[in-house]
Amino acid sequence: MGHVTRSTSRDARVASGPRIAISTTTGQELSGPLPGLPRTNVSTDYVDAVLAAGGVPVMLPLFDPERYPIVDDQLEGVDALVLTGGQDIDPSRYGQERRPECGESLPVRDAYDLRLLEAARSRGIPVLAICRGFQLVNVAGGGTLVQDLPTDRPSEVAHWQSGAPDQPTHTVSVTPGGLLAQAVGEVDLAVVSYHHQGVDQLGRGLVVEATAPDGLVEAVRAEQGWLLAVQWHPEMSHRHDRRGLALFELLVSAASG
Ligand code: MN
Repeated sequence: MGHVTRSTSRDARVASGPRIAISTTTGQELSGPLPGLPRTNVSTDYVDAVLAAGGVPVMLPLFDPERYPIVDDQLEGVDALVLTGGQDIDPSRYGQERRPECGESLPVRDAYDLRLLEAARSRGIPVLAICRGFQLVNVAGGGTLVQDLPTDRPSEVAHWQSGAPDQPTHTVSVTPGGLLAQAVGEVDLAVVSYHHQGVDQLGRGLVVEATAPDGLVEAVRAEQGWLLAVQWHPEMSHRHDRRGLALFELLVSAASG
């Protein structure tokens, strides 16, 4: 676990950081020689944020975990997990009918990510969950989501921001004494926000770590074990936002412990 020494092909000994797994999504190639070819991918921002924090990024391709019950095997040798952003979770996962405003879901990703979270938690490795990952953590704990904030819970806060995607916009108020406060301090933190859903009923075993000015829950931690989940996108701002990078550094530090 954590900082280990590995042999390179030239047999030099090099110290490397902890192995940080990053969850993926699937989509189709839009351009290039084979448009329409199915692809498994992840936003490069997550990879760069893990690298900048001193971790060794490892991508985890998703698949049907019922057909191939080997998600736990994928975590062999992994020291921490980043659950990434993406599609809306299917409302059936939290006992609701789909409303027209709910975005597209990818059922295989819902199944895979829920299994991945469960596997990471039972292994006891630290988890940083972002955006969809944050919502997934809430759903896994039996909580519910607001399917569309603009129609269900109109607010002055622009949770889907306009302007540059790497520039923090709305603020969140960080809960004193929590896990997030360790990384960024007990501050009003400016964050990059791209979400149209949010936490409605809080899942079991979760503690609120930050809220938006309109009262929306923006971050939680687990009561037991190491898990931090944020609704915003620290990976998008980490290149010039010290407090965005700090979340990944906190994860790498937890993974090294
Ligand atoms: Mn927000």
